[in-house]
Amino acid sequence: MIQEYQIRVQPHVAANEQALRNYLADEYGFDVRTLTSLRILRRSIDARQRTIFVNLKVRCYINEQPAEDEYVVTHYPDVSEAPQVIVVGAGPGGLFAALRLIELGLRPIVLERGKDVHERKKDLAQIAKTQQVDAESNYCFGEGGAGAYSDGKLYTRSKKRGSIEKILNVFCQHGASTNILADAHPHIGTDKLPRVIENMRNTILRCGGEVHFQTKMTRLIIDHSPSAINHLPFTIDHCGGGMVVGVEAVKMVNGQCSMVNEYRGPVILATGHSARDVYRYLADAKIEIEAKGIAVGVRLEHPSALIDQIQYHSKQGRGKYLPAAEYSFVTQVEGRGVYSFCMCPGGFVIPAATDQEQIVVNGMSPSNRGGQWSNSGMVVEIRPEDINDQDYPSTTHPSSHISPALKVLALQEQIERDCWQQGNRKQTAPAQRMADFVNGRLSYDLPRSSYAPGLLSSPLHFWLPKPISHRLQEGFKAFGRQCHGFLTNEAVMIGVETRTSSPVRIVRDADTLMHVRIQGLFPCGEGAGYAGGIVSAGVDGERCADMCAQWLQEQ
Ligand SMILES: Cc1cc2nc3c(=O)[nH]c(=O)nc-3n(C[C@H](O)[C@H](O)[C@H](O)COP(=O)(O)OP(=O)(O)OC[C@H]3O[C@@H](n4cnc5c(N)ncnc54)[C@H](O)[C@@H]3O)c2cc1C
Repeated sequence: MIQEYQIRVQPHVAANEQALRNYLADEYGFDVRTLTSLRILRRSIDARQRTIFVNLKVRCYINEQPAEDEYVVTHYPDVSEAPQVIVVGAGPGGLFAALRLIELGLRPIVLERGKDVHERKKDLAQIAKTQQVDAESNYCFGEGGAGAYSDGKLYTRSKKRGSIEKILNVFCQHGASTNILADAHPHIGTDKLPRVIENMRNTILRCGGEVHFQTKMTRLIIDHSPSAINHLPFTIDHCGGGMVVGVEAVKMVNGQCSMVNEYRGPVILATGHSARDVYRYLADAKIEIEAKGIAVGVRLEHPSALIDQIQYHSKQGRGKYLPAAEYSFVTQVEGRGVYSFCMCPGGFVIPAATDQEQIVVNGMSPSNRGGQWSNSGMVVEIRPEDINDQDYPSTTHPSSHISPALKVLALQEQIERDCWQQGNRKQTAPAQRMADFVNGRLSYDLPRSSYAPGLLSSPLHFWLPKPISHRLQEGFKAFGRQCHGFLTNEAVMIGVETRTSSPVRIVRDADTLMHVRIQGLFPCGEGAGYAGGIVSAGVDGERCADMCAQWLQEQ
C-alpha cells in the first residue's frame, strides 16, 4: 500500500529518518516494521512563530517497495549524424538548450569563451591572490556560466511548474541530490555544482555533440540575400534583416586569439548578462536590441549566527537541526523597488568582475551553508527612463553614444569603475558598516568578512549615485523596523552589486522566440533579457531549443 501524508513536525523529527518513521507509525496507526520505504515529496520550514516546525509531504510504502525512480529520467539519443545547431555559451541557458536539442534529435555544437569548470576554478583563486581578473575566465565566464560558482539556488518566481520540475529532474540525473525535488527552497551548493555541470557536458559529448572551450564567438554570419530575406514576415529597413547561417569564433590560447573558425547552423545565443562585447557587436551590426532595467546596490553581510537568532527567534540560533536561516525583504522607496536579492546563507561574498578596472560583488555558498557569514544583494531598481537625467549624470561611457540601447549598460559600467576607483584600484572592495551608512558616517573600522580580496572603509553613502544610496538608506530603515536587530553595525555593505540581470534585451518574437529581424537566431537566457537565475535560464534554454527544432522542420 502507498499512502501520502502532510505532516508538521519539530526539526529533530524531520532530521532523523527513524524518528520520522516512528512518528508516522504512531500518528497513522500502522506497525513501523511494515514501512518498507519513505520518500519526502515536499519540505518547508515554518519559522513564523517561536516554535519552529517543518512541514513535510511524505509518501509511505507499506509492505511494498517503490516501483518508480526517485527522479524522472530523460532519454538522450545518439545525434552524431543529425543536423547541427550552434549554441553560444555554456551557462545554464546554453547547457539546457544543448541537452534539449539532443532529446529532439539535433546535434548541439557548444561554444564557450571560458575554460572548463575545473580549470576555471584556478583562475577564480587567482583573483584573491593576485588581484588580477582574467577577462575570459572568471565568476561569470566559463563552463557552467555565472551559476557555476554560486549558491546554486534553484528557486524561481516563474510559475511554470512542469518546466521547472523538468530542470530539477535533469539536474538530479546528472548527480544533484534528490533533496532539490522536495525542498521549498532547493539549492545545490558551489562544492557540488561543478561535478553536475561536468556530467551534463559528458552527456552532450557521449551523444555526439561537441563542446569547445576557450572559443569566443566574435560575429554572426548572416545571409542578407533576397532568398533569405523573403522568409521574413516583415519589411526590411535599415536594421538589416536576414538569416543567420552560423558564427565566426576565435580560439583563445593564453588570452590571445590563435585561430578563427566558422561553425554553421542556426544559433541559440546564450551569452549571459556580462558579455558586453556581444552587446556592442549587436549594436554595431544594427541587430535589434533595447535597453532594459536592472537593479544596483551592494552585498550586505551579517554574521550568520545573528541572522539565525533573528529568523529563528532564539538566542541559541539554529541549533543542530535547522539550516542557516534565510531572509527576504522588499519595499518601495520613491516609486522604485528596494529589495534583497540572491541571499546566500552561510556563504561568501565573491569578486565577480569580468575585467580589470571594475569591482563587482556577488555571493555563493557551499551545500552545507555552514560558513560564518550570511550575505545577500541589497539593490535598488533602475529603469531605462531613469537614466540621463540629473540623477545619473555620470553615464559618459562612449557606448551610450553609439546606441541608446546601451545606456543602462553604460551606467552599470560607470558604477563598477567608480567603485574600483574608490577602492585601491585593485579588487579590494569599498565597504561601510550598515548603521554608519544609514547615518551618513564613514566607518572607523570594518568587521571581519568573507570577501577574500579584502575590504577598505569608504563612504558609500557619499559616492554611490544619490537615487541608489538614498533609497538603500530608507530601505534599510524599513527592513530594520520589520526585523529587529537586522539594521546593525555588525553588518557590512560591500560595493557594488550591479550584475543582477541583463541591462539589454535582444529583442525576440514572443511566439517563435526568434530574433525579430534575424531568422534562425534564438536569443536565450539571462543575457537576452528573458530569464533571471539558473532555473529560469534553463527553462528558457529548453524553450529556445524547442522553437529552433520547429523552425528547422519548417525550412
Ligand atoms: C556569483 C553568482 C552567484 C549566483 N547565484 C545564483 C543562485 O544561487 N541561483 C540562481 O538562480 N542564480 C544565481 N546567479 C545568477 C545565475 O548564475 C544566472 O542567472 C544564470 O547563470 C544565467 O544563465 P545563462 O545561461 O543565461 O547565462 P550565463 O550563466 O551568464 O552563461 C553565459 C555563458 O556564455 C559565455 N559567453 C559569453 N560570451 C560568449 C561568446 N562571445 N562566445 C562564447 N561564449 C560566450 C560565458 O562565458 C558564460 O559561460 C548567480 C550569478 C553569479 C555571478
